[in-house]
Amino acid sequence: MSGALDGLVAIVTGGASGIGAAIAARLHEDGAQVAILDRDTSGADARFAAFTADISDRASVDAAIAAVGEKFGRLDIVVNNAGIGATGDITANDDDEWARVLSINVTGIARVTSAALPWLRESPAAAVCNTASIASTTGLPQRALYTASKGAVSALTRAMAADHLREGIRVNAVNPGTADTPWVGRLLGAASDPDAERAALEARQPHGRLVSPAEVAAAVAYLVSPAAGSTTGTFIEVDGGMAQLRLRSE
Ligand code: NAD
Repeated sequence: MSGALDGLVAIVTGGASGIGAAIAARLHEDGAQVAILDRDTSGADARFAAFTADISDRASVDAAIAAVGEKFGRLDIVVNNAGIGATGDITANDDDEWARVLSINVTGIARVTSAALPWLRESPAAAVCNTASIASTTGLPQRALYTASKGAVSALTRAMAADHLREGIRVNAVNPGTADTPWVGRLLGAASDPDAERAALEARQPHGRLVSPAEVAAAVAYLVSPAAGSTTGTFIEVDGGMAQLRLRSE
């Protein structure tokens, strides 16, 4: 197989499920050797080296990145995709939950990328891509903590891009809309009528359907590829136009 990422090594956090699994598959198709870092690697595609680690724990992350470096001898691409949700307005979650979600969704990116930096500095094609969300640019109702965390992912993406520009490390993000993943499946499964809830969710999307994880993966594959060599500190919306619709109607 030959492709845009031939010879490069990529790590995908949260790569055992949903959007992360689609990203891992796409980067592999494009020629990269792929390592998955996930706290639950039981569902990981057997084609990829899987490293069990919790991105909210620095020692766990450091050990996993060291193991990736030892196995492949290089690391060129970091996809910070793992994340968790939270529902409700600002009163819905206690301080421990705020700390837990921010530690995974935001500080997790800093932990993983910090551990990877010595490898990225050695790479001729270093790129980082963070999975933010439509929540980064629009206020999602009843998702205060999650929205705050994803807004921070966007800000952190720009900060990292600025800090590591001169080292040749590009940092970008994708902002998915509601995507067809096990996460959304779990939310629908908790509804009294999952099929009706799914139909209502699809009808709310501007293009009448959920975003496919493969569509998000295609945007990530572009952003981490040498073809995007002049692109850093920005994001691609993969949401069927939902953010534009929301922003226009405000
Ligand atoms: P998912 O639940 O299907 O997969 C998430 C993966 O991350 C799982 O494999 C899980 O084990 C892993 N993970 C969670 N916490 C972890 C931790 N502390 N350490 C290591 N791994 C951890 O979710 P998904 O829908 O594929 O979402 C992936 C990313 O996309 C998340 O950052 C999410 O916020 C973002 N996102 C999802 C949607 C959507 O509609 N599904 C929309 C916008 C953004």
